[in-house]
Amino acid sequence: MTAPTGARLYRLALTYTLTGDGLLVAERLPADKVPARGEGALYRRLAGLADADDAALVAAASRYGPLGPTGPIRVSNQAAYLWVADTAVRGNVRNLGLLRKWLAHGATTPIPGTVAPVAHAVAIIAEADADWTMGRLAQFITETATPTELERATFPGRIERLEQRLYAGLSRRAALITRDHARGDAAVTVHVQPAARPRLATAAAHWRTVLDKASELGGLSELVPPGTLGRLATEFRPYLSEGDLPLYPAESVAEWRKACRELGDWTEELARADPAAPDRRATLRASLLLRLRTVDAWPYPADELLGAFPRALWSLWEPVTGQRPQRRCAWPDCTRLLPVDAHGNRRHCDQHRRQSARDRAARNRRTLAG
Ligand SMILES: [Zn+2]
Repeated sequence: MTAPTGARLYRLALTYTLTGDGLLVAERLPADKVPARGEGALYRRLAGLADADDAALVAAASRYGPLGPTGPIRVSNQAAYLWVADTAVRGNVRNLGLLRKWLAHGATTPIPGTVAPVAHAVAIIAEADADWTMGRLAQFITETATPTELERATFPGRIERLEQRLYAGLSRRAALITRDHARGDAAVTVHVQPAARPRLATAAAHWRTVLDKASELGGLSELVPPGTLGRLATEFRPYLSEGDLPLYPAESVAEWRKACRELGDWTEELARADPAAPDRRATLRASLLLRLRTVDAWPYPADELLGAFPRALWSLWEPVTGQRPQRRCAWPDCTRLLPVDAHGNRRHCDQHRRQSARDRAARNRRTLAG
């Protein structure tokens, strides 16, 4: 199946190796997002691995990217960067004379362990933001600068690369953050790459600006739209190893095997649900929809990153329903689904199609008048 423009799913391109205790460790991070092509029969291919050996599962993980969530994403295991950037940290940043002193001394003075997570977070930003992406973001959201046309076109990509570098930095420091924080009031030293030291103070300021803006809008958890946490976790997960942070465990061959077995069950159910038995089909469709919801992959997350397991579930949609997945209207905050037979290039529901036509006409009139 070749997906039309605007209906594509993405995966992370990475290579896994296996540890002695069956965990999958991602190599060569940060990972790129690439279109997940040629996956019309992904459910069957993964189902075929239900009894495969470890090596075959590692190869599959490297071919298809992270499995992604296989169960519900709960608030207790939100992606770790939300944790790092949480209210407690934001509250800390305001009052941390200690942190200011630490920054003023170029990150060379010891600080209490309880303050260390914030210092690590600032260090991660300073190390990741070599090209001033966070700085520009802070300027844009406080409206002290307007993006150029070029920046408008390239900024999402820059933010994405910054995010990847932040994840990688967090992964490098995750164990340290946990260890330092556990020291409580005892003094710890947070090391920062020499090249990033001059950026620490501005990184802290930019970060605070971004978080303050986020809290105005109702907090970072509000900024993560419902139904996207699973995708966030998929993206973030390769950067964590078991025990780093008590938020999201590392991927394992056992989890892959379990997921492949479940897809085997789906494949069998599908074979049993004869097209001549519409009731059975309807039941299967309802179960599939429910399953997609539990892994945070409903409605069809067009043009987004998705784990191999939810992508495999989506590859079942057409065989089960005889229809293409319905996409969500691309208008911000609109939750309507596009019609089943919508053209691949169509992006908006009826109402927002009219709205965007009106907006375009108004723009054209202004251009002509000006
Ligand atoms: Zn709409």
